[in-house]
Amino acid sequence: MNIKGKTIIRGGRLLNGQAHTAPRTDILVDGDTILEIGRPGLAAPEDATVVNANGQLLHPGLVNAHTHGHGNLSKGMGDRWTLELLLASGPWSFGQRIFEDTYLTALIGAVEMVTKGCTSCYDLILEMPMPTPEGLDATGRAYADVGMRAVVAPMVADKTLYEAIPGLMEALTPSLRKDVEKLRMAPYRASLANMRKALHGWSVDSDLTRLAVAPTIPLHCSDAFMKGCLKLACDFDVGLHSHVAESKVQVVSSLKRYGKSLTAHLDDLGLLGPNFTVAHGVWLDDEDCKRLGDHGASVAHNPGSNMRLGSGLADARGMLNRSVNLGIGTDGASCSDNLNMYESMRLASMVSKVQGPDQRQWLSTEEIVIAATEGSAQVLGWKDIGRIAPGFKADIVFLDLSAINWIPCNDPTNQLVHTEDGSSVKHVMIGGRMVVRDGVPVNVDMANLAKMAEAARSRLAKVNRPGKKLFDRLERIVGSYCPGLAQIPHPIHRYGASSRA
Ligand SMILES: [Zn+2]
Repeated sequence: MNIKGKTIIRGGRLLNGQAHTAPRTDILVDGDTILEIGRPGLAAPEDATVVNANGQLLHPGLVNAHTHGHGNLSKGMGDRWTLELLLASGPWSFGQRIFEDTYLTALIGAVEMVTKGCTSCYDLILEMPMPTPEGLDATGRAYADVGMRAVVAPMVADKTLYEAIPGLMEALTPSLRKDVEKLRMAPYRASLANMRKALHGWSVDSDLTRLAVAPTIPLHCSDAFMKGCLKLACDFDVGLHSHVAESKVQVVSSLKRYGKSLTAHLDDLGLLGPNFTVAHGVWLDDEDCKRLGDHGASVAHNPGSNMRLGSGLADARGMLNRSVNLGIGTDGASCSDNLNMYESMRLASMVSKVQGPDQRQWLSTEEIVIAATEGSAQVLGWKDIGRIAPGFKADIVFLDLSAINWIPCNDPTNQLVHTEDGSSVKHVMIGGRMVVRDGVPVNVDMANLAKMAEAARSRLAKVNRPGKKLFDRLERIVGSYCPGLAQIPHPIHRYGASSRA
């Protein structure tokens, strides 16, 4: 991304999350990078573009550590779905996509995120039966067209849900078994070859979008596939991201399948390291957290999704205690409905506070701001985002302090986490460029976006009718077998509602 010239942002109040203050500060930007920060009146070249930030709170662009671009066209399709039911809905909710859909669904998410103060994300995209260089390119272009940063990771598997969960295939009727056998994923070598091709030929501006590798859920990937993903990540020096211990069904299945916890299994395969991210980690125990922390790994914490899918309440304090890097994410629109990082921060705070009466164990608002910016930036493996400081990219959110969330402004850190809901976002700058101005995305025609989305929605609803019928037949069996597995006693408890499970 080549931006020339200097910009001086004057008169804004810059959040100091740790100090719970927001002193008036000027920011000098050179091209896409912050050059200098100083008191009001900071010297700037005469030809610098002046941005008036009077009456505005400036905070680092929020970094979404975990989302799914493919979910944005599936908004609102489910209600009482566990993770396993969401996965079972795949052929209906994510089926029959063409590359135009892949572009469009990522574009919808990117627009939502930037207008809600988020400037970069880790997007795990699904293409069935395997990732393609064209699909990844379409996703990368969508982010680049909005002007948002993204790490795009193809979410891959060589086993279906029915092969991954011990006993689930056997629980199906013979005719259903026949139908789900047709859903087979591509052989893992074909998926690896396509990912390698995409990594080799990546042509989207790498200042905005980069690739990573996401073996979707360890139980859904053969060990050989996992090792292939590891080699790919090493060869291209990119991240690895996987849904680990998201649901109790997964941890119970791991003990049945591997005879050990998921992190122990991943450790055996050599996957754990500073570039490895556990998505969710709701059912990690202390030993798992220690293992992740010792390897310098991260967790992308998605409290909204964890509650929406009934996965449970993740123990973020336990993760921090074991030096796990903590990022915060929204998860996809099909399981936490909006991609609002302000809401994710607020929910991260609530989920922490509801777990026990000792307030010293709760996450503080400053810890949450750090997690949603610097912590998530580390998850993305992006070293120069997540802070407003010299040398960092100029990814800056301008909040309108005359909006109701800030009347009055007593404590900017507490209010950013607990009061803000995205409705005060005025401008958003990414890499020195305004991508949202006065609440409106600069590079996207919203009316046209809505028209394209409606056309795609109605076409997909038609072609996915058989997928919907299949889901209707699967729902009762998956929806009773999996909760049954989750009744098996387990040493740790992460459900808020029942001490029996
Ligand atoms: Zn996810």
